[in-house]
Amino acid sequence: MAILTHVAGRRGLGGRETRMLGRQARWQEDLFVAGPLRDLIPDDHILKRVDRILDLSWLRDEVRDCYDARQGRPGIDPEAAVRLMLAGLFHGITKDRQLLREAQVNLAIRWFAGYRLHEQLPDHSSLTRIRQRWGAARFKQIFCKSVAACGRAGLVDGQTVHLDASLIRADVSWESLTERHVERVLADNAAEPDGPPAPKRPGRPRTAAAQGKKSSPTDPDATLTTSCKQYRMEPCYKQHTAVDDRAGVIVDVAVTTGEASEGLELPRQLARVEAQTGVPVQTVTADGAYAHGRNYEHLEQRGTTAVIPPQTEARTARRIPARRFKYDARHPCVRCPAGKVLHRSTRNRQGWVYRARAGDCRACPLRTRCIAPSAAARVIVIGDGYESLLRARRQRRRWGHTEHTLYSRHRWRAEGVHGEAKTQHGLRRAARRGLWNVAIQVYLTAAVMNLKRLAAFCRARRVTSGHQGDAVLSGEASAFGMHAWSPRPLRLAA
Ligand code: SF4
Repeated sequence: MAILTHVAGRRGLGGRETRMLGRQARWQEDLFVAGPLRDLIPDDHILKRVDRILDLSWLRDEVRDCYDARQGRPGIDPEAAVRLMLAGLFHGITKDRQLLREAQVNLAIRWFAGYRLHEQLPDHSSLTRIRQRWGAARFKQIFCKSVAACGRAGLVDGQTVHLDASLIRADVSWESLTERHVERVLADNAAEPDGPPAPKRPGRPRTAAAQGKKSSPTDPDATLTTSCKQYRMEPCYKQHTAVDDRAGVIVDVAVTTGEASEGLELPRQLARVEAQTGVPVQTVTADGAYAHGRNYEHLEQRGTTAVIPPQTEARTARRIPARRFKYDARHPCVRCPAGKVLHRSTRNRQGWVYRARAGDCRACPLRTRCIAPSAAARVIVIGDGYESLLRARRQRRRWGHTEHTLYSRHRWRAEGVHGEAKTQHGLRRAARRGLWNVAIQVYLTAAVMNLKRLAAFCRARRVTSGHQGDAVLSGEASAFGMHAWSPRPLRLAA
């Protein structure tokens, strides 16, 4: 009988292993916790892995001039504050109150920031004060150091860069949106209370501002824009990102108001990337929003290969398209399909305006297909870098395997970075208001993503080299503030 009970205790009737009903004593609490907090956190936890490669000891000197050396209450330790912010972003927490509430119960965050179990955490308002005191430039330093650390580990190539932009929804409500026109009129009235009102120009207002575009007084830096014509306009900021091709490290990031054109940012982005990596960019990939003639011209002058698909020409119903007009850069003029010459007249933001003679168009047999019945003559705008744009259009038809592969890599490298920032690190919506505040959020998010890549790389290298302990730190790397492995050749996909 005893033998039968023993066997039934291990294997039930259905062949499954059986268990007795367990009990956990919940009424007894430990008075003391023996052993370091570090031992309670799993080795593969992201904060533990990042802690091995992160050294913010340089930060104290960096922010020293923001504090009074002789008087005042001691503030929160700079490294602890930044570690708290980074830990929050690793968990997708962007709000300070929520972060401090989570840190109260989350051992990993508490340990990562350097607080003991019984230690009082700072108030959430301390983090706000620190952001105001330091400004965006010091947080940018943290991002730049993360790029430098990735570079020393061999994760940054610097020769092929993917550019992209993404919208960040501003932290304002729909109810706060008001017409800009109202604000302007109120400002005019306040400036000249007794003066006559300015004369109004007849006709429809031409600019978006004059048409009464909305903005939010609670966050005036955010502007209404949309990423797609089918979506409604939202108050947004725009993040401009450059991602290195080798391992997806973010090598440059900048924030502008939502309606800023990403195409105009390209020259500045490339200059910043080269200053950061110290390597001339040889190939740039970007989507159609960067396909401006002046960008192609700029890249041609630099000798950089552009893998940017030119946008197809906008077609106007039953109108002779602009591509049928031949541009003569030497003279400079444009020749129409009827052989008449359009002369240069004025300049707008895109480039030079070329205008046909009214007499030529009036007598032209192609008139009905060329201009609207109410127009006197045809007008063509030749944008800056038009010839480079034409060359890019011809080049696009000759794209081979390399260009198509690079452009498909652009999709998952650059657009994937934005997707990751939004879904995993809370960058879908700005946590705070003002351009500088959003910039801080973007810099820290980009630093967190770079640290993730560096930590994953160091872990993979440690596993492949069979080293099970903590990272052996390179002295040269630690001089820059973040520890990294001494460089070895990488075997990443080309
Ligand atoms: S309508 Fe004017 S611009 Fe157009 S084809 Fe005739 S002459 Fe040329």
